[in-house]
Order: sequence, then structure tokens, then C-alpha cells
Amino acid sequence: ELSLADTKKWIELFVQKVESEKSQLNELDTAIGDGDHGTNMDRGMKAITDAFSKKEPEDIVSLHKTVAFALIQKVGGASGPLYGTAFLDMSKKAKDDADLTTLIQTGLAGLKRRGQSDVGMKTMIDVWEPVANALKADEFNQSVIDEALTSNKALVATKGRASYLEEKSKGHLDPGAQSSAYLFEALLTVLG
Ligand code: ADP
Ligand code: MG
Ligand code: MG
Repeated sequence: ELSLADTKKWIELFVQKVESEKSQLNELDTAIGDGDHGTNMDRGMKAITDAFSKKEPEDIVSLHKTVAFALIQKVGGASGPLYGTAFLDMSKKAKDDADLTTLIQTGLAGLKRRGQSDVGMKTMIDVWEPVANALKADEFNQSVIDEALTSNKALVATKGRASYLEEKSKGHLDPGAQSSAYLFEALLTVLG
């Protein structure tokens, strides 16, 4: 289980990473989408920082809920409701079980439900699922993320805007997979 302080640090590192990689995320989305993933996520990151400064989260449940609301209200696009659902489901789950592996598995299930999607469709799920599995097996490290991104890049998209490109989506990294990689790299940093 991650402490409240470490959970907050995790999210703050994610915020910093997305803010500094905003244009990179936009570029990835320009290749196979509409070019706004960095801009969308950056709005959500600002909202998270605002919400934390207005009210210090007093437990993991409220922290995840704050993140969820900021993302749902400010990110927009396809990714806002997806990330928002993942964090909202993690918040609800944390009421009775705040184990990190359980929470990531719960977030993953939320993404699949909300996106009506699964692993292999060239979305952020291609990162969440291997990370959830690796946490469960106690084998989570950077190579899990790197390999997830490599396989995501090779896929043909069957969900989201990139799916309109069909075969042409192949060879491009999905922007949501990249932003999720930032989320879990931030987690790795906190896990040390
Ligand atoms: P939009 O596509 O509406 O412009 P964003 O660019 O912010 O929204 O987010 C796009 C990302 O959302 C994609 O790169 C992909 O990872 C993710 N995504 C889109 N649709 C789905 C889905 N049905 N299930 C899971 N992830 C999805
Ligand atoms: Mg987009
Ligand atoms: Mg868009």
C-alpha cells in the first residue's frame, strides 16, 4: 500500500511530467489523431494542482477523487472520461482496499468498461494492463513500460480516433499509451 504522502508525490510527478511533455503528446496525437492530447492532459494537470492547493487531500480516497474530478471536468476528449473513470473507480475501491495492485487493477477495469475496449486495440490500456499484471507478480520495473510502448507502437488501432487510419496507424505510438507511461514512470520513481 502506498502512503498518502507517496500517493500525492506520485500524482505530482505525473503532473510535472505531462506538463513538460505536453508538446510531445500533441505531436504523437498529430500523427494518428487530432493533435490535442498534450493540451487536453495539461488542462487536467493544472486543475489537479489547483485542487490540491485549495484543499489538501486528507486520505487516499479523497486524493483519487480529487484527481478524478479534475480530469473529468477539464481534460475533455476521449481521454478525460477514461482517466477520470479510472481514478474515480480507484477512489471508490480505496474505501475498503487501498492496496496499490488492487487499485491499479480497479482502474484498468474502469478503463475497459468506460472505453468498451481491451488490450491490443492500441490505446492507453496497452500500458495499464501489463503494469497491473507486473505489480501483481511483483515484477514492475521500467522494462515493463518500455516493452508495453514498443508493442503498442506496432499495433493497428481498433479504438479511438487512430482507428480511422486503420493500417496507417501502425508504427506510431499511441498518445494515451505515452501519457499512461508517464503516469507509471512517476509511480516507479515513488516506489524507488
Ligand atoms: P480525443 O481522441 O478525443 O482527441 P485525446 O487525444 O485526449 O482525446 O485522447 C486520445 C487517447 O485516448 C488515445 O491515444 C487512446 O489512448 C485513448 N482512447 C481513445 N479511445 C479509447 C477507448 N475506447 N478505450 C481506451 N482508450 C481510448
Ligand atoms: Mg486527441
Ligand atoms: Mg480531441
